[in-house]
Amino acid sequence: MNLTLHLTENCNMDCSYCIREKCPRDMTEEVLYKACDLAFSRGQRAGLCFFGGEPLLKKDLIYKALDYCEEKSLKTGIRFDCKMTTNGTLLDEPFLVRAVKAKMGIGLSFDGKAQDVCRIFTGGQPTSSVVEEKAKLLLSYMPGSTALATIAPQAVPYYAESVKYLHDLGFTRVSFVIAYGSRVSWTDDDLDLLRIELEKTSAYLKELFIKKEHFFMSAFHSKIRDCISGKNPAERCHLGVRQMPVTPTGDLYPCTSFIGDTKYLLGNVFDGIDDNKVIELAKKASTPETCVNCDLVKRCTNSCGCANRMNTGDENQVSPLQCTYERMLIEISDALGEELYQIDPERFAKEFS
Ligand code: SF4
Ligand code: SF4
Repeated sequence: MNLTLHLTENCNMDCSYCIREKCPRDMTEEVLYKACDLAFSRGQRAGLCFFGGEPLLKKDLIYKALDYCEEKSLKTGIRFDCKMTTNGTLLDEPFLVRAVKAKMGIGLSFDGKAQDVCRIFTGGQPTSSVVEEKAKLLLSYMPGSTALATIAPQAVPYYAESVKYLHDLGFTRVSFVIAYGSRVSWTDDDLDLLRIELEKTSAYLKELFIKKEHFFMSAFHSKIRDCISGKNPAERCHLGVRQMPVTPTGDLYPCTSFIGDTKYLLGNVFDGIDDNKVIELAKKASTPETCVNCDLVKRCTNSCGCANRMNTGDENQVSPLQCTYERMLIEISDALGEELYQIDPERFAKEFS
């Protein structure tokens, strides 16, 4: 099974939209090894995602988990995969050498040209020049790494510019999501500007397609792919089954935004998972009432319980912000998909099927 290990609740950065309460609590080795055992205890694949706070503050725990799980994988024949989401500031060559050996997938949280607008060190210093150098280092070891940008309202004017900047830096995969939660506040003007920036980004993606450059931008690509495959991304993710978070003290929850709400506590690494609670939670999942009759219901991520909870406090209720964003993204992605198909149907099919 897949577990997200919150190795620490501490971080060396203070991002304006961060939803995590910072405190100096770290995972103990005892919890770490129990979590690794749990990952190997269900199914034929054990997956760990190193997460925080900032996981690289606890490199020692990552090294220990990798050694332990690789040995366990050899003994049991169960496949082991790992990944990490990091702010990148503490990346270094010895860590990257070990990460390459472990075939770790690394997602670098990097807001591109808006980095210093929202992502600063705890002392208030800018982070962009440090992270740009670390991004180059990361790409020299792992060229397929993904840049993960979170777009808060104040970062919207930099959206299209940031996509181009990250591409020029050497990223071939980027993920742009909008910031949710109580620390951000979107206005209609922000959303109007976001539409303009998404349209500029669409034009840039078209330019790259014409030049035959491979560049995967998840927001657009997934909407186009889902449209072609007829897949329903609106299906609720398997809360608590696909990727269960583990807190530093070993508690298990359905998703990171539920951490601390004891109603959603699904067990702990010492006593195991309360399967009845997982089943109960899955039964409660439903399409938001406001979405049932919408034409886009099968194209929209209205059912992400984690995002809904952050926006509305209810995992089954979608926010007006999410609805507006989904509508504009689907409209602009569909128009882009149509254009790319007209330009080169064969390449289009190869890239998006
Ligand atoms: S790097 Fe991540 S954990 Fe740290 S402040 Fe920023 S968003 Fe929060
Ligand atoms: S576009 Fe809005 S109403 Fe339609 S499915 Fe998505 S969130 Fe629901």
